[in-house]
Amino acid sequence: MAQTRGNLFILSAPSGAGKSSLITALLKKHADMKVSVSHTTRDPRPGEENAVHYHFVSADEFKALIAKDDFFEWAQVFDNYYGTSKQAIESQLDAGIDVFLDIDWQGAQQVREIMPSVQTIFILPPSKAELEQRLNNRGQDSAEVIAGRMAKAQSETSHYNEYDYVVVNDDFDTALSNIETIVLAQRLTLNAQASRHHDLITNLLK
Ligand code: 5GP
Repeated sequence: MAQTRGNLFILSAPSGAGKSSLITALLKKHADMKVSVSHTTRDPRPGEENAVHYHFVSADEFKALIAKDDFFEWAQVFDNYYGTSKQAIESQLDAGIDVFLDIDWQGAQQVREIMPSVQTIFILPPSKAELEQRLNNRGQDSAEVIAGRMAKAQSETSHYNEYDYVVVNDDFDTALSNIETIVLAQRLTLNAQASRHHDLITNLLK
């Protein structure tokens, strides 16, 4: 069987929609899926590890990476910079791994320009009340930060209609299975299957 290049997916959501938990569950179930580890200038939250959750860098280090053209995309989100390094994704895609980018709408717009084949998924919380509850439950940010994030959630959500797929994270397992279905469908497209089963098809048509 020929090595088929992996697919690139973007997952965006307002903060608190449950995107990180969905990605964690997805990677646990599927060894052939990976999430790209972004660079950020924000401080680590409790429990976050460098090079696992993010590459935590200073603003100067981030700017140096921009100058070196190391980023596939980057954006200012809230008061910090976030970016996906080119190196983080190309080698994985070449190895046939499906790569997920957990990035915001600004990053998604840039990636669509560079790689139009990218499949983009927007995750919605089931309600505004539930979103507020989830942001409070997190217990890691101050009330001021939470209020700010509720306002930003609305602005992030206003970009939902730029995405290929929309998943509502009401029941976690259903949302997870929705994302798995999207990935599977992408693996079954004509282009992917023609490349994966090149020998079979050539033989059948002989
Ligand atoms: P958080 O600080 O809560 O981890 O992430 C804040 C926002 O930044 C989320 O919407 C997340 O998807 C986005 N983000 C994380 N990494 C990147 C990145 O590399 N590029 C862009 N454009 N956004 C990112």
